Amino acid sequence: MADAIQDTFKRPLRDLRISVTDRCNFRCAYCMPAEIFGEHYRFLPKAEILTFEEITRLTGIIVRLGAVKLRITGGEPLVREQVDKLIGMLSPIDGVDDVTLTTNGFLLPQKAQLLKDAGLNRITVSLDSLDDTVFRKMNGNRSSVQKVLDGIEAAEKAGLQPIKINCVVQRGVNDHTIVDLARWAKDKGYILRFIEYMDVGTKNGWRMDQVVPAQEIVERIDAVMPLVQTKRNYQSEVALRYNYQDGGGEIGLIASVTKPFCGACSRMRLSPEGSIYTCLFATQGTDLREPLRSGASDDEIEQIIRNTWGTRIDRYSELRSEQTDEDRAEKVEMYHIGG
Ligand code: SAM
Ligand code: SF4
Ligand code: SF4
Repeated sequence: MADAIQDTFKRPLRDLRISVTDRCNFRCAYCMPAEIFGEHYRFLPKAEILTFEEITRLTGIIVRLGAVKLRITGGEPLVREQVDKLIGMLSPIDGVDDVTLTTNGFLLPQKAQLLKDAGLNRITVSLDSLDDTVFRKMNGNRSSVQKVLDGIEAAEKAGLQPIKINCVVQRGVNDHTIVDLARWAKDKGYILRFIEYMDVGTKNGWRMDQVVPAQEIVERIDAVMPLVQTKRNYQSEVALRYNYQDGGGEIGLIASVTKPFCGACSRMRLSPEGSIYTCLFATQGTDLREPLRSGASDDEIEQIIRNTWGTRIDRYSELRSEQTDEDRAEKVEMYHIGG
């Protein structure tokens, strides 16, 4: 394992999230509301997006600096043409322990086997509700539940296991369907992770009263299917984990709002156009594309990354409660740098 670089709070660099596109075939209201991301929205032109070769080169450098886990995300990573080819280029990089991908699942029936063959280890599929009306409302009416279930089945058949399911919980939108989702995931043997609705970006109109605290989610499930809390798998794991008392599986909670985990945050994010971000709530990234395209050596790029991580002071979620709305500057959008 490489000697990981550390930030100002001595947090090592361990994970790299690679956003391969800012485009998506869904319009989840909490991420890319349809009224803003309409027909005329200007997404990044192709020339501005890193090529697979460029992503691979930058990833190689970032892995040397400590990142052992890679997650491919977006936007919707499966709308990027031949993303399996990229997986095939990233997974052999020396020092990479784990390559995974987060998707809305819509294109998995066509792509699951290709991804597996290219070296993808595991997959996370986002599914906010099993109720078709609720789900359609949440994804901007771009997909039925069945379509995503087909995708999950294809992933399972291809051997992309263990399968994780991400569910963003919004009060008054899908919180009445979380127990059904938990029961389904338990039966299927999938690891379900509930994510507190976060104030990422500036376009989703986030309000605290729409957040269902992780504790409440646990209580609602525990009342029907008793749970017992378990230890974190590793130090930088962000999910609070619970097992079912009957031994039938587990759930996780990403309590970014009510129980922030900045102290253990070891994630760097690479945007589609080649900037690195040291926090999901960052207002600014560090551009690597310009040096990359103007002939910088690996050592020069490595130095920029070292400086960026070395001066990292981010702990947005821990400071959130102390902020007023006016303090909240323009932040990068979730669909841009991935979850
Ligand atoms: N398109 C893929 C998908 O939806 O799985 C990958 C990108 S998406 C930005 C990554 C994750 O972020 C998804 O699980 C999504 O539900 C989550 N997400 C997006 N906006 C969110 C928000 N405001 N609060 C909490 N989670 C959010
Ligand atoms: Fe697309 Fe994922 Fe954002 Fe939904 S959460 S709009 S699927 S990027
Ligand atoms: Fe990491 Fe920023 Fe999230 Fe804190 S708020 S856990 S520093 S990404």
